[in-house]
Amino acid sequence: MIFHILTIFPEFFGGPFAHGVVKRAREAGRIDIRIHNLRNWTSDRHKTVDDRPFGGGAGMVMKPEPIFQAVESIWPHNQRASRPGRRVVLLSAQGRLFDQAAANRYAADSELLLICGRYEGVDERVGEHLADEEISIGNYVLSGGELAAAVVIDAVARLLPGVLGNETSAAFESFQETGHEEGLLDCPHWTRPADFRGWKVPDVLLNGNHEMIRQFRKKAARDKTARLRPDLLSRWAKIED
Ligand code: SAH
Repeated sequence: MIFHILTIFPEFFGGPFAHGVVKRAREAGRIDIRIHNLRNWTSDRHKTVDDRPFGGGAGMVMKPEPIFQAVESIWPHNQRASRPGRRVVLLSAQGRLFDQAAANRYAADSELLLICGRYEGVDERVGEHLADEEISIGNYVLSGGELAAAVVIDAVARLLPGVLGNETSAAFESFQETGHEEGLLDCPHWTRPADFRGWKVPDVLLNGNHEMIRQFRKKAARDKTARLRPDLLSRWAKIED
């Protein structure tokens, strides 16, 4: 899968994609992350990407022209309605919340282009006429879309075939509706030592009885979901034992 990032801070991405699963996926050629400097599509000497807001008020707004130019030159001849498998996402505090279901949808595409805002945000026409979706990573305001873009790429990349060592392991994680707990949290995990400062690992995990372990994990996942994320549990109240 190809990821494109449109940003005024290309150097920002040196760190986030240089470790662990994402780094290995890049090295294996399973993902290709292309970082595009928005200033390359400006037309003035100062490479201006922002301007004052109509109607007045604080801060600057990102101009639409360089952003449209960039997307149209990354994917020439592509209108919004006719780019199957290619999705443009505007990172925005005002967007719909990004979640595991969205990550799964994106993972089915061949290319994903992420537009990173800065300042007070991006001219509204980008969200209305260029982006397929406007997405927020949480109900808080960041100073730019770059961290959000890194979050989205990380979450999507690990769902792609062959990216995680064990092909099935993504299916059994928190929120994954294909998993054994259908959208609940993952079960808690423990490793050695079995007794750490007097806090013991549950006995059932040490006894080698796989059916008992499976039942224990199922219940532990539900208990933890009920305790920390009751909102998820109520969505799935229909799940039987
Ligand atoms: N004035 C805007 C915030 C602008 S923050 C408002 O109050 O809604 C500047 C940029 O940071 C945004 O254009 C967006 O690209 C990014 N950003 C901020 N918060 C974000 C969030 N929760 N999720 C995704 N991107 C975010």
